[in-house]
Amino acid sequence: MSKPTLAIHGGAGTVVKSLMTPELEAEYRAGLEAALGAGWSVLEGGGAALDAVQAAVVSLEDFPLFNAGRGSVFTHDGRQEMDASIMDGNAFRAGSVAEVRNLKNPILLARAVMDKTAHVLLAGEGAMKFAAEQGFRLEADKYFFTEGRWQQLQDAIAAGRVQLDHSAPKPIGTVGAVACDTEGRLAAATSTGGMTNKKFGRIGDTPIIGAGTYANDRCAVSCTGHGEYFMLAVTASDVAARMKYKDLSLLDAAAEAIAHLTEIGGEGGLIAVDQDGTVTMPFNSEGMYRGLADRSGFQISIYRD
Ligand code: ASP
Repeated sequence: MSKPTLAIHGGAGTVVKSLMTPELEAEYRAGLEAALGAGWSVLEGGGAALDAVQAAVVSLEDFPLFNAGRGSVFTHDGRQEMDASIMDGNAFRAGSVAEVRNLKNPILLARAVMDKTAHVLLAGEGAMKFAAEQGFRLEADKYFFTEGRWQQLQDAIAAGRVQLDHSAPKPIGTVGAVACDTEGRLAAATSTGGMTNKKFGRIGDTPIIGAGTYANDRCAVSCTGHGEYFMLAVTASDVAARMKYKDLSLLDAAAEAIAHLTEIGGEGGLIAVDQDGTVTMPFNSEGMYRGLADRSGFQISIYRD
């Protein structure tokens, strides 16, 4: 019997420490705690890692301060286009969606891709058609709108940059979860609005299996940060590959994967769990919203405390 464990993240794009207020920090912590509660209640009841990561990510998508689902960042054209993926490590199955709009919980559509199609990744119009066929209800644009994100877009346009901004008072980010259940099954899920001011149908690492999300029977990994670099380094599967081919522990494999990301100029972090329920959460950014739940309770961190 394995040690049930859940780890979550709310993105590596944290508010810079000097701008964080106790009130804002309490809000972020409440969002992380709610997600830990949602995922842990599945694991604690003997449920599957796959259902636990899904429940945690749904909760994070519903929380407007994180960049996924409600509160997603805006594209250059003032739209909110979301990416999400989920992977079942032991069954070695995955589903993901890219460039979807007006869906309250993109992670549920990713799960439907995994469970109900012969495909792994659906994007744009086709993904929306599949959502309609599956009976997913669409939310109005105003459900996703937050003033802070809109202001970030105006700032990013004025500065002429695509923003993975760690200095704005309301940051961007991504959300994710990894879990090991009592049977030692592993799963990972990741969901994001991407990067502020993204253009031309830009898709990041989040829906790319192997880059932003990966799980097999050794480890489950969910990444956050500058997606282009995570795609170049295929960071999530890099952790699994280092464990397999170099016979490294999860901690060493994840540390090496982040060291490689740093070498190529990428910024961000990841959360990962192995079959024993060991968790690691390395990052090279100033902080990463993150949390851990196991039988000893919940732990939440933001910076390098
Ligand atoms: N990885 C995400 C992307 O590039 C953004 C993030 O994690 O902050 O779309």
